Amino acid sequence: MSKALIQVDTLTKHYALPKTKLLEKRQFVRAVNEISFEISEGEIFGLVGESGCGKSTTGQMLVKLVKESHGSIYYRDRQINRLSAIEMKELRRELQIVFQDPSSSLNPKKTIGWLLEEPLVIHGYTNKLTRREIVIETLEQVGLGADYLKRYPHELSGGQKQRVGIAAALVLKPKFIVIDEAVSALDVSVQSQILNLLLELRSKLGLTYLFISHDLNVVQYISDRVGVMYLGRLVEIFDVDESAKGPQHPYTKALFSAIPDVKSTRERMLLKGDVPNPLSLPDGCPFHPRCPVAIDKCSKEGPTLRTIAPRHAVSCHLIEEGDFLS
Ligand code: SF4
Repeated sequence: MSKALIQVDTLTKHYALPKTKLLEKRQFVRAVNEISFEISEGEIFGLVGESGCGKSTTGQMLVKLVKESHGSIYYRDRQINRLSAIEMKELRRELQIVFQDPSSSLNPKKTIGWLLEEPLVIHGYTNKLTRREIVIETLEQVGLGADYLKRYPHELSGGQKQRVGIAAALVLKPKFIVIDEAVSALDVSVQSQILNLLLELRSKLGLTYLFISHDLNVVQYISDRVGVMYLGRLVEIFDVDESAKGPQHPYTKALFSAIPDVKSTRERMLLKGDVPNPLSLPDGCPFHPRCPVAIDKCSKEGPTLRTIAPRHAVSCHLIEEGDFLS
């Protein structure tokens, strides 16, 4: 892989809750807590975790749809969370996002042609003929074509709508796309078509993705590396390559053991209890109340994310360098 396209350093997002009583201490939901990672140019970095773990908030901060509480985000060598609105408008065409539900992100009153043309108008493409050519070329890139120009979103299937959602992200010729749960609402057969389309577009157009999903199977299929989030923290980053050691953190292993696999003899690793309330996170390792291998230290001291092998980092007291759990 080449140099980093995206670099995230101690990125944090805390949401203040409204006070319900006058003298009450303000409470914060700690959605994302000091996460650091980088994404190489041309890489697909998967982000996985249970609902509410902070993965979508992370994706939205990377394309400046959500403002961070603190931390830094670099795109190439520019700190994008310090750019002015004008500087960001110029850069926005290079940083795009595809959402989970294309129905809610596509205006039902507008034709597909206009939905794809509008961003070009906003970004100063004044020649209508040029805009039309770019829109048709983009529709073809996502497996649709010029006959979709005059259709409305309600006339399309779920898979076709998601192809239009991807086209809307592609039309400005971006370099980096956040793909947020974009296949979760689709049937399995349509899911695999969209995943393969995303892989093909990455190769053809030299794209880089942050691919977000709660489904580890899907994330593993499409990604080069995977970051695992738990309660707003990155607990593991591992290489998907088969020659690598594979996931080591107890939480990642539990996620893996929950994937149905008829060929595997692996035992299901059941987690105790529910995800803790993000308003009152446990002391020490936030995973300790549910961790099947927790030791005394885990409830007192939080581990840090440490590199244990090339392209592999884990946040767990039990894992020292080269000393894997399995
Ligand atoms: Fe489990 Fe302790 Fe490792 Fe946290 S630090 S994952 S509680 S063993």
